[in-house]
Amino acid sequence: MTVAVPTPPPSPLPFLPFALPDIGEEEIAEVVDTLRSGWVTTGPKARRFEEDFAAWLGDPGLHALAVNSATAGLHLALEALGMGPGDEVITTTHTFTATAEVVRYLGADVVLVDIDPATMCIDPALVEAAITPRTKAIVPVHYGGLAADMPALLNIAKRHGLKIVEDAAHALPATSGGRLVGTLGSDATVFSFYANKNITTGEGGMVVTHDAALAARIKVMRLHGISRDAFDRFTAKVPSWYYEIVAPGFKYNLTDIAAALGLQQLKRAHTFQQRRAQIAKGYDDGLRGLPLTLPPQARAGDVHSWHLYVIRLLPAAPLTRDALIERLFAERIGCSVHYIPLHLQPYWRDRYRLSAAQFPQSQRAFEGLVSLPIYPRMSDADVARVCRALRDALG
Ligand SMILES: *Cc1c(COP(=O)(O)O)cnc(C)c1O
Repeated sequence: MTVAVPTPPPSPLPFLPFALPDIGEEEIAEVVDTLRSGWVTTGPKARRFEEDFAAWLGDPGLHALAVNSATAGLHLALEALGMGPGDEVITTTHTFTATAEVVRYLGADVVLVDIDPATMCIDPALVEAAITPRTKAIVPVHYGGLAADMPALLNIAKRHGLKIVEDAAHALPATSGGRLVGTLGSDATVFSFYANKNITTGEGGMVVTHDAALAARIKVMRLHGISRDAFDRFTAKVPSWYYEIVAPGFKYNLTDIAAALGLQQLKRAHTFQQRRAQIAKGYDDGLRGLPLTLPPQARAGDVHSWHLYVIRLLPAAPLTRDALIERLFAERIGCSVHYIPLHLQPYWRDRYRLSAAQFPQSQRAFEGLVSLPIYPRMSDADVARVCRALRDALG
């Protein structure tokens, strides 16, 4: 006797994550080499990663300092620049809280300003309008991997005697006027190697600066305020037990295990960017004609890192942002929102009595935006699938 076997339901498409790192055999081998070496914390690989990173930026005057997160790097850069109580630091409301929280670590105040909707980056005219006698620094964010208007910001900083620390968490690599972010002449630039960033060390970051004194202060403060780091101590000719504490520093050093990943990821940064740019082009072509604002492009000749691909729904769209995200999720497509602006977050809103009306551009962008998956491991078929889902939802 035969039993009728019911036809199984069609197997759903695999879940397409919003982000995924691309870790190859070279990265794995380099980490294993570190594990076998006997030196797992900050040591020869962290130092080589710093050297390679500075060389990769191609600017011989740069100092590169590896840290265990971009948050740590931003904190160290602002500390070294002397930010403290009574000072004001201007940044964008349209960012991750790390950009601003480090200012509060130092007891200084955060002044949030709106974005230019054409770039989604901080609006230089609003920066200038927000300057007071207490203003000490500007922290621009290269949102999504499109360089902020650095010529305008550097000009404002120069005229008003302000420091600039770039939050370049998204900007590896990105260029402004043909020059790589990191070499543009601000006081310091901070990159992130968090798991979903363009290159990753799991957790990690890099501060680059042209200023030798700033680099020296960051180096001391990243490891307990010790005047020499552990690797120096154990390799130098003077007795290895001796060290001096010159400040109550932090524990922000990058391990050699993480640096091993970074050494190999850095070699692939341009290849990663090229694949991201291809995916962005695929979205540009596949989403044309829908009731959307597509992300801004870099100027002709400039590089966009395409860390994010952020679409903004137009008022004519047949569904809300939240409904669109739910619909994509039901189609097993991961997406995200960059960002819930700081002015809507309880801490920032209450501390500085902020309201959405003060940030109309960021607010409007937030209400309509969705970040689509974009990372080198995505296939062309994945991109087509996302475009199809969006055409079905919005067409
Ligand atoms: C990821 C990110 C940070 C923080 O980076 P960490 O390395 O995780 O500390 C800061 N600013 C922006 C804009 C980011 O996206």
